[in-house]
Amino acid sequence: MTTQPLHIILMGAPGAGKSTQSRMLKARYQMNVLATGQMLRDEVTKQTALGLLADSYFQRGTLLPDDVMIAVITERLIHLTKNQSFLLDGFPRTVVQAEALDQLMQRQGDAIDAVISLSLSDQEAVRRLGGRRMCEGLGEPFPLHIDDKTSVEACVRLGGRLVTRPDDEPHVILERLRVYEEETAPLLDYYQHQGLLHTISAEGKPESVQEQIVQVLDGI
Ligand code: ADP
Repeated sequence: MTTQPLHIILMGAPGAGKSTQSRMLKARYQMNVLATGQMLRDEVTKQTALGLLADSYFQRGTLLPDDVMIAVITERLIHLTKNQSFLLDGFPRTVVQAEALDQLMQRQGDAIDAVISLSLSDQEAVRRLGGRRMCEGLGEPFPLHIDDKTSVEACVRLGGRLVTRPDDEPHVILERLRVYEEETAPLLDYYQHQGLLHTISAEGKPESVQEQIVQVLDGI
């Protein structure tokens, strides 16, 4: 396994399993995971000004303004020391955000090492998101599918609550997929040109997706 600090971006349409993969990668590589969606949901819970703003975007399934997200992520990244590994989950989501990240990394004399893109058909994304619930109240909230009876029962038995994310409401799901295609997919070309892009199919089980990501990261 590599011993250099890793600076990784994890991309993928809604439902591709970014948060599941980042949890597994965090454990394996002791990385700092900066997951913008979860950060924003935490702000909603705390009812901060950022949370109130985010909530209105969640209801519609659209992206928060670039300048807001760039400020959020800059604040987090500048507090990491140079030898710490990080994985960005949910940032950048637009070319403007990617350019800002490049500038920030350059200023810090650093660089992104790899961009992992999880690919998934729209049909499977709709199936996953339509059945997704968050198990809340047992530490860090985590997603599960309502068809996965074992996980659902375990969550409830341990005292967790099953909550539907506001942006997993059916009419919002299609809008999120559209926004991904329109605003985020162009980033694939951006990182392909930089020679950083690794595309991995996310159709399989989380463990097999993880194995493929690990192969990429261990090859860096
Ligand atoms: P998913 O990838 O499943 O849509 P996330 O949890 O990553 O979910 O993000 C949820 C929502 O948070 C997004 O739909 C968007 O409204 C907001 N968000 C997260 N990251 C960003 C970002 N980098 N730029 C703009 N909005 C963001």
